[in-house]
Amino acid sequence: MKTIQAVRGMHDITPDQAGHWSRIEHAIAEVFSRYAYREIRMPLVESTRLFHRAVGEATDIVEKEMYTFPDRNDESLALRPEGTAGCVRAVIENGLLNTPQKLWYSGPMFRYEKPQKGRYRQFHQIGAEVFGYDSVEVEAEMLMLNQRFWKSLGIEKSVSLQLNNIGDSVARANYKNALVDYLSGHKESLDADSLRRLDTNPLRILDSKNPAMQSLLNDAPALGAYLSEDSVRRAEQLNSMLAAQGIAVEQNDRLVRGLDYYNDTVFEWVSNDLGAQGTVCGGGRYDGLVEQLGGKSVPAIGFAMGIERLFLLLEAQAFAALPGNDKPDAYFIVAGKELQPYAFALAENLRNARPDFAIMHNLSPGSLKSQFKKADKSGARYAFVIAEDEVANNRVTVKDLQTGEQLQYALQDDLQELLAGL
Ligand code: ATP
Ligand code: MG
Repeated sequence: MKTIQAVRGMHDITPDQAGHWSRIEHAIAEVFSRYAYREIRMPLVESTRLFHRAVGEATDIVEKEMYTFPDRNDESLALRPEGTAGCVRAVIENGLLNTPQKLWYSGPMFRYEKPQKGRYRQFHQIGAEVFGYDSVEVEAEMLMLNQRFWKSLGIEKSVSLQLNNIGDSVARANYKNALVDYLSGHKESLDADSLRRLDTNPLRILDSKNPAMQSLLNDAPALGAYLSEDSVRRAEQLNSMLAAQGIAVEQNDRLVRGLDYYNDTVFEWVSNDLGAQGTVCGGGRYDGLVEQLGGKSVPAIGFAMGIERLFLLLEAQAFAALPGNDKPDAYFIVAGKELQPYAFALAENLRNARPDFAIMHNLSPGSLKSQFKKADKSGARYAFVIAEDEVANNRVTVKDLQTGEQLQYALQDDLQELLAGL
């Protein structure tokens, strides 16, 4: 019979990988709490309309990447392609906007993309959204928070920050005209994607991955010349705040981000170690979105990072630097079935006394030799040996599998002596 496989672009996280995943997630969650961000959890499924309105009709996501389906009552629903739209809906719906909010979330996102390394159809993001502050200090603190993520994961040397200011809607509208004028004069050199975007979303041509487009853009008008005084000041202030904190910044005039809702500050943390899918984390300010989705006018800013891309970066170098591992601490070797009640009781006592201690109990014991082999293979630090002699004398033999040292412990009174030695 033909086996059924996972859907293309959607992957299992195997037990070998899951330990690393949760270490990444814990490290990030811990950093969030140091900056007083609180977690929010949103549904995976939302009304399709939400993404049309929030993400924008002329974006890659809405045009060609959404998993959309009719519910049984014919309402159109979508698997969430990103977290910001749902988070904004949630803060409006739950009345959370009377005070400023610093929120984070994590979970799977879905986009019908061409699967390749670092690009999947189900992928996972950790993101954050901050509502209610318009000062540039919010940008600065958010980027400091990001920087601390990379430090705590040990990848600060492999990611760097790219920054741009894309201005307000007036600046972008004026710039859009100038850009369309310029590109319309070079229509014969535009690729199919860019031709289509010329009518729908010309700014997106700026971050085309096609080198031919990039060289055509060298002589295009620059967005920076269209910015308001406020935007220019914001960019300057942010740059000097980041410099004061020792965060290196590369100004990237072509950074516009793929979603429609951004204004002013946009940023990406990129790596050279990931091939074509180099962006680990991206975000920006979106002061108009809350009102656009029916809430009051509240300034907002957010970012999202791809956990798979973090995983790939860490896989290349730093997993060893993260604390903890998922190997057992002790492997219980039991010389016969009739000795299991004694072994179980000892294992339970040990679990009570040492919540941090992972015990792998051999549940179908074979010869002592084969059990020692399995203990070695498990990666456990200690083998606990329970044979007839141990049971008869109420003892346990503990072998340190790293040093080879073997000690006998009496278990008459309690486990204290034994525990002190572990
Ligand atoms: P890209 O230009 O790589 O398509 P994007 O601009 O579409 O990225 P965002 O929507 O800003 O990405 O998502 C934020 C982050 O989520 C990205 O920087 C990336 O790390 C991750 N991400 C986005 N799409 C995918 C995907 N299909 N597979 C894996 N990770 C993804
Ligand atoms: Mg994309």
